[in-house]
Amino acid sequence: MYIILFGSPGVGKGTQAKILSEKLGIPHISTGDILRDAIRNKTTLGLEAKKIVDSGQLVPDEIVVGIIREVLKSEQTKNGFILDGFPRTVQQAESLEHLFNELNISEVFLIHITAHTEEVIRRLSLRRSCKQCQAILNLNEIENPEVCPICGAINSLYQRHDDEESVIKDRINIYNITTFPVLDFYKDRKKCLTIDGFQPIEAVNAQIMKELKPD
Ligand code: AMP
Repeated sequence: MYIILFGSPGVGKGTQAKILSEKLGIPHISTGDILRDAIRNKTTLGLEAKKIVDSGQLVPDEIVVGIIREVLKSEQTKNGFILDGFPRTVQQAESLEHLFNELNISEVFLIHITAHTEEVIRRLSLRRSCKQCQAILNLNEIENPEVCPICGAINSLYQRHDDEESVIKDRINIYNITTFPVLDFYKDRKKCLTIDGFQPIEAVNAQIMKELKPD
């Protein structure tokens, strides 16, 4: 199954992608995660991308398209994938269409997760990640912020630079101006499902699964 998870930063794409990946047995491909790994490992890509990612701007199309091209042509995605955070511009969507044609991929689901801007800002400012196991957590739901509730690592929880309040608003603006028009591009090209992301994680997931596998 081929899935594009679409929606503004903080809407829960990463969380849903992880659950769907387990349930459907297909890999979760997040361009944000790939870039953060490269930054952590100080690769050429990471050094180039660090400033852009930390400031919440978009990495140039040719770089992210290059990353996705390499991943989609690899063994790991030959039976399906869940794209999270890509495409984010109409140009990326166009390049992805070419790639789908090249790879003979025809049935792609676009899942658009929606939520109110105020809720998104609230979630992003409370979001913490674990350096050890990469879990995505909500500060309000963590008993002791010094211990990761998932893997038990000590002092491993951190706030992404781009989740700091000063950057969040820029990211949402970029989403509204540059990324949202991608939906229009797909309207007549893909099966598009819209899901209200303002519900508990399990409810969002159940609805997505129902839409993907109606019986
Ligand atoms: P995310 O984890 O999806 O919120 O992505 C984190 C950051 O990585 C974004 O704010 C961008 O700086 C960069 N990034 C991720 N995906 C893309 C993309 N498709 N196009 C451009 N930049 C991206």
